[in-house]
Amino acid sequence: MQQLQKLPIKVVYVEDDETILKETAGFLQKHVQELYTATNGKEGLELFLSTKPDAVITDFVMPVMDGLDMIKEIKRRHPDTPIFVTTSFENDTLHLTRAIEYGITQYISKRSKPNRLVESIYDYFKSNDRFLFNLKLSHDGKILSIGEKFAYFLGYDPEELQCEPVERLIEPLPHIHNRHFLKRLKEQKDIEYAHCIFRRRDGGDLVLSGSAHFSPAEDEKNYITKWHPIESIVKSNEEIKERLAKEEYLKSLMKFHAEISQDIITSFTVEEFLLGFIEKLPMINIGTLGFIMLTEGSTLKDIIHPSYPGLCLESLMPKPIDLNDPKNEERYLPCFLAAKHNQMVFVDDISSLPDTELKDVLQKNCIVTTISIPMRIRVQNGPTGILTLLFQENHTFDKEELNLWQNVANTVAFGIESIKARLERDALILKLDMMAHTDKLTGTVNRHRGVDLLEHEIKRAHRYKHAFSLIYFDIDHFKKINDTYGHATGDAVLVKATETIRRNLRATDSLIRWGGEEFLILLPETGLEDAVHIAQKLREQIEKRSTDIPVPITASFGIASWKEDQTLDTLIHRADSKMYEAKKLGRNRIAY
Ligand code: GH3
Ligand code: MG
Ligand code: MG
Repeated sequence: MQQLQKLPIKVVYVEDDETILKETAGFLQKHVQELYTATNGKEGLELFLSTKPDAVITDFVMPVMDGLDMIKEIKRRHPDTPIFVTTSFENDTLHLTRAIEYGITQYISKRSKPNRLVESIYDYFKSNDRFLFNLKLSHDGKILSIGEKFAYFLGYDPEELQCEPVERLIEPLPHIHNRHFLKRLKEQKDIEYAHCIFRRRDGGDLVLSGSAHFSPAEDEKNYITKWHPIESIVKSNEEIKERLAKEEYLKSLMKFHAEISQDIITSFTVEEFLLGFIEKLPMINIGTLGFIMLTEGSTLKDIIHPSYPGLCLESLMPKPIDLNDPKNEERYLPCFLAAKHNQMVFVDDISSLPDTELKDVLQKNCIVTTISIPMRIRVQNGPTGILTLLFQENHTFDKEELNLWQNVANTVAFGIESIKARLERDALILKLDMMAHTDKLTGTVNRHRGVDLLEHEIKRAHRYKHAFSLIYFDIDHFKKINDTYGHATGDAVLVKATETIRRNLRATDSLIRWGGEEFLILLPETGLEDAVHIAQKLREQIEKRSTDIPVPITASFGIASWKEDQTLDTLIHRADSKMYEAKKLGRNRIAY
């Protein structure tokens, strides 16, 4: 996580012009670790003696004690202290000559941009190896010695760190370089160049680059590492431009976040939501791609990836990945690590990853930077999944952007959970609704719901003059079946008989259990003649009885077609009495 950070030095800055002091100090504050200011040479000298800074920045012409006199005093006591002089009198050769005599380090015009000052300081410290921080480790990673300055900037006394494990200063996560460094240390291999994020006592990060070598000591090999601040921290004007572009980017990221939140409401399924999310990523920035892995317990079980040509990630996850299997760690870095440790994992240059199938696919797609972010609702519960972002540029993150991405990832987790909950609730409502309207034994429409359907149909008929018919049927001698074979067999017969009937009806027809072994069939858009045909067919089917019905059965059918002036009661009554007519005429027949 490369971010703007301060030079690890202490600076005294002396300037009598209040406006300039405020402005320049404001800038310096952002770039050096510790800054003390004074408004004249006397104050400056006192401050110098009490704070023992690494460098002094001073004006020439000042009240009480002039800059030159102060420089002379400082140089007399501590000739090694670098002094940077700022002045607006570039043509004041007398002052300049004397200043050079006293041994100032550099002279900078007040008219140049404040970052020139920071750049000069950086260059000076770098070329003088003043930034070189030593850290000596034992072969098993214990701190043997640490430079006083280095310890100071990390917020410790060197003694405190004696024999402490190096992980106290370099956490293996989230940065891949830290992992790399610690791995090489374990393997006792030298490193020519490495980046590392040191963790300060106050929780802040200190990004340094450096090298590490094993000492040739015979008895026990020690690891000698040397570190210095990375150069990119003093970039300037470009930075402002970059900052503006970054702000645009952050704005579109926030807009994207808002849209994703909307999608939770409008998506019907989790898959639709996640695919929509992945496919919208380039909306933030053309070069942004990503994929999502969903977790279940300690496995990564599913991958949601974009359908961009070439970026085929499906083959990477043929089956769920066991997070506890160490073999997988190498294969699926860094999304795997993020899932396993429930932490963000950042890789600023994927060529530094060990060779894996994933690396291969990403490199073919010109991906340079990737970050894997756990998507979570509750930190302690482990992530719902891992959002991995892929950038085709060297993308750097600052805290603000990381926070935004973490929020986006958490919103996705929230989305998954709420869509799931909504689907479950809808299914439950549907089930309850079904239960309330269905006859338990036969699965047909119950009488309560049947009345609603009939009333609805008669209203429709009144309004649009559409025909409809009712068939009332009753199983013949059903009592005998119960008496002979028992109630359970009677039940089975009812189930089979209704199955037979249902198979022979249209989807728009309704079979209603009207009571006991009596049923009503509602046939919308059906006149008497068609209804008669249907009833005849149903009677035949019942009589034929499929072989799995335990006893032969028949049924009697009464048919009534709606006529304009009829009410529901009179229509049902007519169908019922026709059924009785069929019974009277000898059963197993229809009447209309
Ligand atoms: P009919 O041909 O005149 O219709 O003769 P039936 O014996 O079918 O006449 P009735 O209507 O008198 O008898 C119906 C019987 O159906 C009475 C009742 O015990 C039985 N029955 C009603 N509901 C159920 C049920 O859910 N399961 C079982 N097994 N029997 C039922
Ligand atoms: Mg009966
Ligand atoms: Mg009956």
